[in-house]
Amino acid sequence: MIDKYGRTISYLRISLTDKCNLRCRYCMPPGTVEKKPHSDIISEEEIISCVKAAVNLGIKKIRLTGGEPLIKKNIINIVKKIKSVQGVEELCLTTNGVLLSKLARDLKSAGLDRINISIDSLNEEKYKYITGGGNIKDVLEGIDVAYKTGFKKIKLNVVLIGGFNDDEIEDFANMTIDRDIDVRFIELMPMYDSGDFDKNAFIPYTVVLDKLKNRNLEVIEKDGGVAKLYKIPNAKGNIGLISPVNNHFCSECNRIRLTADGKIKPCLHSSDEINIKGLDDIQMKKKLEEAIYKKPEKHDELSYTSRSKAHRNMNQIGG
Ligand code: SAM
Ligand code: SF4
Repeated sequence: MIDKYGRTISYLRISLTDKCNLRCRYCMPPGTVEKKPHSDIISEEEIISCVKAAVNLGIKKIRLTGGEPLIKKNIINIVKKIKSVQGVEELCLTTNGVLLSKLARDLKSAGLDRINISIDSLNEEKYKYITGGGNIKDVLEGIDVAYKTGFKKIKLNVVLIGGFNDDEIEDFANMTIDRDIDVRFIELMPMYDSGDFDKNAFIPYTVVLDKLKNRNLEVIEKDGGVAKLYKIPNAKGNIGLISPVNNHFCSECNRIRLTADGKIKPCLHSSDEINIKGLDDIQMKKKLEEAIYKKPEKHDELSYTSRSKAHRNMNQIGG
């Protein structure tokens, strides 16, 4: 479906749960985690009905996210069911990778096409700090197993945090040399509550280019995603820069989002939400159309002092 501003909407992101096995400080800061009653969470049947309605309206790509999608009981079955909906051309998943070494092969057999894995530091102690207790070995093992399992393209997501991981930019970039893995740096977004980060944590994507200025980066054509792409000469993978704060990509936005409590969000940074819980297939399709129709041209400017109007933290939206 084409929205009011001429954008073709072809991508649905589904947050399967707002729960997580980590506590990243910018996503689920201490004291902000509310427990939703089970009855508020969207059912598997409703998710499939939403996917069918979305495909009917021209959506071709689905991404499963969370919270952490791999803690969802029945995740393998959910992947299988979504992939078998006619019209779903690509099924992707974003994960913190902690459970990936156990699940990667089954996910692939169930029909999952692509995986993005989040990792904000390569240092054991820093990783533990930023994730509220995570063990980096689990994620590195998850990346290895997923790579060997043969997913189309593994992408690593690194949230850029000034004073925390800007000294690791080159180490991350070097991860693209030997394996066909992309590393994407994402600007930290000032959500409703992004923890105890001060102004200096919110650094622009251009810092990455500055830090890599001696590496003769080549510009690569975009792959249909929102990242600007570069490559270290002869590297197998790419370096991506995602700049939702300093150079937003609203004019190219092709997505809508379904939250774990059954709300469609036409825009990540707006408080507009449309409930689809408890609806039948026909009503579901109407509501999706309404959501696409309501997509704003762009979101308000984001900055440390002008925070997202989403009224939710990222674990409740899915990124
Ligand atoms: N748990 C999974 C994971 O961490 O990949 C999926 C959900 S997580 C909300 C999706 C993505 O959003 C992750 O890459 C995470 O780093 C990113 N994210 C969360 N809060 C963010 C923020 N305030 N700014 C930028 N990215 C954020
Ligand atoms: Fe969990 Fe992902 Fe949020 Fe980290 S970013 S707390 S792993 S949902």
